[in-house]
Amino acid sequence: MIVNQSYDVFIIGGGPAGSIAGAKLVQAGYRVKLVEKMQFPRFVIGESLLPRCNDLLDEAGMLQSIERVSFQSKPGVAFQTEEDLEVINFEYNLGEKFNCSFQVKREVFDYELLLDAERKGVSVEFESEVIAFDPEATLVTVKTKLGDIEKYNVKKVIDASGYGRVLPKLLKLDKPSEQSVRKAIFCRTEGDLRPLVNEQDGYIFVDIHDDNQAWVWNIPFKEGVTSTGIVCEESYFKKFNMSEPEFFDYIIRTNPTTAKRYKKATKLNEVGFINGYSASVTKMFDTSFVIVGNATEFLDPIFSSGVTLALESGSKAADLMVKELKGEVVNWQVDYEDYMMVGVNVFREFVNAWYDGRLQSILFSKDKTDKVTRSIVSVLSGYVWNQENAFVAKPKKMVDIIYQLST
Ligand SMILES: Cc1cc2nc3c(=O)[nH]c(=O)nc-3n(C[C@H](O)[C@H](O)[C@H](O)COP(=O)(O)OP(=O)(O)OC[C@H]3O[C@@H](n4cnc5c(N)ncnc54)[C@H](O)[C@@H]3O)c2cc1C
Repeated sequence: MIVNQSYDVFIIGGGPAGSIAGAKLVQAGYRVKLVEKMQFPRFVIGESLLPRCNDLLDEAGMLQSIERVSFQSKPGVAFQTEEDLEVINFEYNLGEKFNCSFQVKREVFDYELLLDAERKGVSVEFESEVIAFDPEATLVTVKTKLGDIEKYNVKKVIDASGYGRVLPKLLKLDKPSEQSVRKAIFCRTEGDLRPLVNEQDGYIFVDIHDDNQAWVWNIPFKEGVTSTGIVCEESYFKKFNMSEPEFFDYIIRTNPTTAKRYKKATKLNEVGFINGYSASVTKMFDTSFVIVGNATEFLDPIFSSGVTLALESGSKAADLMVKELKGEVVNWQVDYEDYMMVGVNVFREFVNAWYDGRLQSILFSKDKTDKVTRSIVSVLSGYVWNQENAFVAKPKKMVDIIYQLST
C-alpha cells in the first residue's frame, strides 16, 4: 500500500477547531490534509457564540467570511425566572476587544469556516473517516468515501473530531467527566413570540425551570427560526416517565415563560436529544499528536463556551505546531494543556456554581458592584484568560466571596 507523505499535518474533523487550526497552519506555509467523516453542510448542536470567538477568527483571517453570512448578532444573555430577568450585555465588560457575538446555525457556520480553510489551502476530503492511528510512526489510516483504505505519514496529527473523540477512543485516553450526567432535548421552532431587550432582538434567553432542576435555551436566528433546548439531569428526566419529545412538549407547556413564548410556535423538525454529553481526557497531547476542541474536555452548554474553547484550542495548537515545525522547542504541557485548563477551569467553576445555585444568587443580586458585574460579563463573553479579571485569577474564591455577599 502506498503511504502518502505529502503533508506536514493531518487534521481529523472539520468542525470549528479543525478549520481554524488548518487555516492557521497553511497560512504559515505548511501542507495540511483535513479529513471529515460527514458530508457538509451537517447539523451539530451548539449555536450560540461568545465575543471571544471573534478575536480568534479575526486573528486567523476568518472573521470576514463569517461576517459576510450576516448571522443574527448576539448582544448578550438574558437569564430569566418566573419573577425576574437579569440581562448580561456583552458591551458592559472589562474593556475586551469584542463586545458582540453571533447566533449561528452550525450547518452554515461550520461549512463557511471549512470552505474558508480550503480556500486558504487546506486539502479537505469529505465523507472519509479516520479509523486507525499509529502514534509511534505518526501514521493515520483513513477509510475513504468509496471504501478504499489510505495511509498518511505526517509530522503531526491534530484530533479535532469533536463528539467522535477519535484519538481518545483509539489510544484509550478517555476519562469520565466529573460533571453529573445531564441530557439535552432540543428542536428548532418558528413563530415564537420573541421577547426583546431594549427593543433589540438577538439575546439568548435562558429560562430557569422548577427551582433550577432544568433550564431552557432559546436561541433566536435571523429568519424567525429559534433553537429551543431543555437541559436537566438524567434522573430528573426519568421521574416524568415520558419520551424525550413528550418531555420537551410538557416542559415548554408548563413553564410559565416558555408557555407564553411558544404559544403559537410550530416545530420545524423532530425533537433530538443527547445523553451524558460531558467528557474528559487523561492527556491532551503527545509527541505525535494534539487533541483540540470537544475531543478534549466538554463541560456543559449553560454558558455557550464550547465553540469558543474549540476555536481557542485549535488556534493555540496550530500556533505551537508552527513553532515546533520551525525547529523551536515547545513546552506542550505548559503552553498548551495548562494554558487551556486555565480557561476551562474558570468555566468549570461557573458551571458548578450555576447548578448548585450560587451563580443565580450572584446574577440576580441587585447589590453587585460595577467591577464585579463587568468581570462576570467578561467571563461570560469568553475572555477567560485575562488574568486582570479576579474571576479568572481565582475563580472559586471570587465566586464564593461574591456569593456570600449576595445572600
Ligand atoms: C446540548 C449542547 C448544547 C451546546 N450549545 C452550545 C452553544 O450554544 N454554544 C457553543 O459554543 N457550544 C455549544 N455546545 C458545544 C459545541 O457543540 C461544541 O463545543 C463544538 O461543536 C465543538 O467543536 P469541535 O470543532 O471541537 O467539534 P465538532 O463541531 O463536533 O466537529 C467535529 C467534526 O469531526 C468529525 N469527525 C468525527 N469523527 C471523525 C472521524 N473518525 N474521521 C473524520 N472526521 C470525524 C465530525 O463529523 C465533525 O464534523 C453545546 C453542546 C451540547 C452538548
